[in-house]
Amino acid sequence: MQVYTLHEGSYSVDISKKFVPFDPTKDNPKDRPASLFIHVQPFLVKLKNELILLDTGLGYSNADGKLYLHENIKKAGFNPDDVTMVLMSHLHFDHSGGMVHDYNGKMELSFPDATYVMQRGEWETAFSSTSSSYHTEIFDFIQRNAQIKLIEGSGQLTNEISYELTGAHCPFHQVFLIDDGEDKVFFGGDVLPEPEELIRKFIAKYDFDGRKAMELREEFGQKAVAENWKCLFYHSKSKSQAFIEQDGDRYKIV
Ligand SMILES: [Zn+2]
Repeated sequence: MQVYTLHEGSYSVDISKKFVPFDPTKDNPKDRPASLFIHVQPFLVKLKNELILLDTGLGYSNADGKLYLHENIKKAGFNPDDVTMVLMSHLHFDHSGGMVHDYNGKMELSFPDATYVMQRGEWETAFSSTSSSYHTEIFDFIQRNAQIKLIEGSGQLTNEISYELTGAHCPFHQVFLIDDGEDKVFFGGDVLPEPEELIRKFIAKYDFDGRKAMELREEFGQKAVAENWKCLFYHSKSKSQAFIEQDGDRYKIV
């Protein structure tokens, strides 16, 4: 199985929840007080009969008006129209912005030939929530124009793809495991967004249920070691794809 990291860049985000591009070579973090600095990277997975996108990034475009996501997919050797499935861990803006994009002032589907797979509770939350993390206009457009598959709880999506409703980061967050018989690839979304979170145990304020998220990270870390999962880290600033090893009572990122 081939996995490609689609780097969308670094951003700072403050209380306004707007994501402002941050270039470490020329921007000074001190100019952005009370900000969180994050990296954003969706993943592309090539299976025999599917081309899968895991989350869609912010959906920002370069100076030529081209979606970073599309450019990155082309760099990996594919066409955006080749994507057959878009698997969404959850629908916060930093994961769902790229589901659609602006083209000459009009909204368009970023992946017109794909099925967008979402957890039903998360889909409903995206319409009913008053949180600014959900940009409802995206989902209004998706509802009218995209092929949608709503899944519930945990289960098997195809022979190769299973999903698990985890909650924790938000009430209906889900994770995916892709197993083609040779490799096992785990996408933990924002329950396991960075490899460092396996090493340092903590309860995060940005999680809906921080304790549960912490326990899930421990559980997924153990499974990753035991079953030789390749883990994909959506917000990592260092390694975006890694195997996990046990080193005494600690984890080691390989
Ligand atoms: Zn996120």
